Order: sequence, then structure tokens, then C-alpha cells
Amino acid sequence: MSPKQQALLAAQVQADPRWQQVLARDAAADGQFYYSVRSTGVYCRPSCKSRRARPENIAFHDSCAAAEAAGFRPCLRCRPQAPSQREQYAAMVTEACRFIETAEQAPSLHALAERAGLSPYYFHRLFKQLTGLTPKAYAQAHRAGRLRAQLADSASVTHAIFDAGYNSNTRFYAEADQVLGMTASRFRAGGAQMRIRFALGQCALGAILVAQSERGICAISLGDDPEALLRELQDRFPRAQLNGGEAEFERLVATVVGFVEAPATGLDLPLDVRGTAFQQRVWQALREIPPGQTASYAEIAARIGAPRAVRAVAGACAANTLAVAIPCHRVVRQDGALSGYRWGVERKRALLACEAEG
Ligand SMILES: [Zn+2]
Repeated sequence: MSPKQQALLAAQVQADPRWQQVLARDAAADGQFYYSVRSTGVYCRPSCKSRRARPENIAFHDSCAAAEAAGFRPCLRCRPQAPSQREQYAAMVTEACRFIETAEQAPSLHALAERAGLSPYYFHRLFKQLTGLTPKAYAQAHRAGRLRAQLADSASVTHAIFDAGYNSNTRFYAEADQVLGMTASRFRAGGAQMRIRFALGQCALGAILVAQSERGICAISLGDDPEALLRELQDRFPRAQLNGGEAEFERLVATVVGFVEAPATGLDLPLDVRGTAFQQRVWQALREIPPGQTASYAEIAARIGAPRAVRAVAGACAANTLAVAIPCHRVVRQDGALSGYRWGVERKRALLACEAEG
């Protein structure tokens, strides 16, 4: 190869955003692509700790299979075919979620950490990072989901309490505020006496409404018309006290807007997730799809262990009230077509295009 050709190849690689991720040994890019090194004949995951190769020797591949088809063998150091640490962590946290969901009593942090073979401190941090909830909040939300579904059509609150696995009324009433974000009677009354702070703003995707209950962010919605977004919030919580225009809250909204415009940065705010147990399982699975990737409704159904519930999964995606924080925009049809989006299919397209650029 002539020096001129080499310089051209190097410039091409250096202009590719993936090269920056290789230079940074960015573990967040693991699984999204692989790179091969012509001089050694091996291919690596982006986070590989081996010595950096010269850019003119690099090529990028979408999968291990593609790298191998091009004649490269897997690096022995970063073992690109083995699940990455992130994937292992995601699998571990998913397993912990299933365990919490099926346990009679909410398991202790200690017990969960021990099952995962991690320290309680590290497990707690990891769980929160991947789900947005602490293990305790997740257990409460899950039980709350079951309770909420039953309350909605149960004539007797007491009956619903026992159905949802609470041992006694007293314990239920002590915990009701924690699990529902409001007491059972208030929940049935459309959020009466509940205080919700909200703010309207503009972001790259148009008008945005962010609302927060005592429990956490309870709505992130997008649209063309801010007033329509506010009316929708009022319809959802017809009896709640809605407060807008608080300076302190507006600052928090700026954080959410920043996140909506760059989802890969993550949102480190508590979410007030309201839905049935099934919806929460779907939403949980959505949160495990990394930015820049998509999944089909059928894949999500399989991941939550309900492969035939494809339509119900689509329904849960449509019922999501936390745009981007629960990334239902990353779910597409089997053939890759975008299908619907609660906040407009053009916004879905824009979000996916932006994430694909990294
Ligand atoms: Zn390697």
C-alpha cells in the first residue's frame, strides 16, 4: 500500500465516530460494533484493553460473524464472542427482577446481592443504574402494579389487598402510600388531594411536558401543542392538584430535556411508574434496549417470557406515559417498519436517527 493510500484509509477511520469510542475504550459501545486490526488478524470489542492499533489498519464490523467472514479471528484478551460485562450485568439484573416478581415477600438487598455474587453496595448501584429504580422500589412498584390492576375492577378494597399478597390490612394501609404514590381510596378517586408539579417547555422534538408526583417523574410527553399536553395530564389525574411555573421544578425539567435530546446520557431521576404488572414487565424490558438499538414487539414478548403476547406488548408500549425514559421508540415491527408512536411517528424516526448516530 502506498503512503498516500495509507493516509487516506487512516483519515477515513478517524472521521468515523466509532473510532473515538475505540480510542476511549468505551464499554458502552460493546455489542454495538466490533473492530478488526489488519496487522494482527484479530477483531476486538471497543473496550479491549490491548494496545491501540494504527487507524489505517482498522475496520469496523456490525457483528462477530461479519468480522469472521472478513477473515479475522476473535481476540483472546477481550473475547468478543463472550457476553460483555454490560450484557452480563443486564442479564443478572433481569434475573433479579424476575426473582423479586415471583418472591412471596420482597427479598432483602443482602439476599439479592448474594444471589448475584456482588456486594450489596455494588448490586444496589448496578440495579438502580439499569432499571432506574432501587430493588426495594422495584419490588414495591411490582406489587403496586398487581394491586392497581385489581383495585380498578375490584368492588372491595380488602379483597384486592389479599389478592395482591398483602398479609394484613394494617400492613397494606401502612404501605399503600409507598406503593401507589397515593392511598388506595385516593387512587380510585382519580388522584384527589395528590399534588403534581409540571412544566411545559420546548425541546428539539417540539413541545414537552414533564410532571412529577411525590414519588417521581410521572409524565414525559411530546407534541406540537403544549396545551393539548396539559389537557392530557389533567385527564389522567382529574382530581389532582396540578402546580406549574415553579422555578425549582423548571430546572429539573431542563435536565429531562437534556436527556430527551441525548438519551445515551441516561436519566438519574426517580420515575413514578404506574401500570399493571404486565405493563411494568414490558417497560422494564424496553429499558434494557440500549440507545442505538431496536427490538421487535415479538422479541420483547419473548424476553419477558410471554412469546404469544405480542399484541399485549404493543398495547403496553402504547400505554407508556414516560417518553424516552421508557424507550418505547426503540420497538419496531418485525420487518423494521417503525409502526406507531404515541407522540407521533416522525418523533420516533427522529429519535432513532439521532441514536443511530451515537
Ligand atoms: Zn481485544
